[in-house]
Amino acid sequence: MTTRYKTQGFVFKKNDINESDRFYSVFTNDFGRLDIFAKAIRKNASKLKSGIDIFYISDIEFIQGKNKKTLTDAITIQKFNNIWQDVEKFKIANRMGEILDSFIKGEERDENLFNLLNEVFNKLNDNNLDNKKYLLIYYYFLWNIFSLLGYSSEVQKCASCREKLIPYNIYFSNKEGGVICKGCFHKDKFAKEINSDTVKVLRIILSKDWQTLLKLKIEPASQKILSEISEIAIHTFCPVYC
Ligand SMILES: [Zn+2]
Repeated sequence: MTTRYKTQGFVFKKNDINESDRFYSVFTNDFGRLDIFAKAIRKNASKLKSGIDIFYISDIEFIQGKNKKTLTDAITIQKFNNIWQDVEKFKIANRMGEILDSFIKGEERDENLFNLLNEVFNKLNDNNLDNKKYLLIYYYFLWNIFSLLGYSSEVQKCASCREKLIPYNIYFSNKEGGVICKGCFHKDKFAKEINSDTVKVLRIILSKDWQTLLKLKIEPASQKILSEISEIAIHTFCPVYC
């Protein structure tokens, strides 16, 4: 007898294959990442296609075959319509999907990660969200997913000597594991000089304080630093090219 599995998942990638088939990558509540084959789902007559798409949360049912899992049912739970209707939001959602795809390879349940996805997509989907805040949601996702995956960054004190940080001559070092002081700068010649505003943003992001985060005004210079240290961190931590 074939066993049918049911779970709820967040769809973050789709790949068309053959004439009308497709693979969906879904981060599920019960199994972690699943890559599920959907036969003939791109045909107009497919009964499954309205229940699953990229950036949907769907209830799915699948069977485990010898080589792959095959989708047998899909019901939409949440569509995130505002993300679909806003090109900038969609781009950010896509980038978060790519990060997830690169960092999460195996089937391993992670309730915190599932909750993080729910949290960031609901925030990004919010109709009242100021477009200047879109990127902050991406950074929130990024630094919190690093944390969940074991790459947490020390931002409260010097990651190396543990001394209190002063607002000047501070650097970000992936090697030392976070923000470092002037006295520790010689320990990592690739450490990047940052400013106190960037440290503040990282502290707010890592303490998951949405209320303060969404009220923040970030200077372009700090935004640039945040973007640079985020890219460096992605390349340092990423298990595959991303
Ligand atoms: Zn130090």
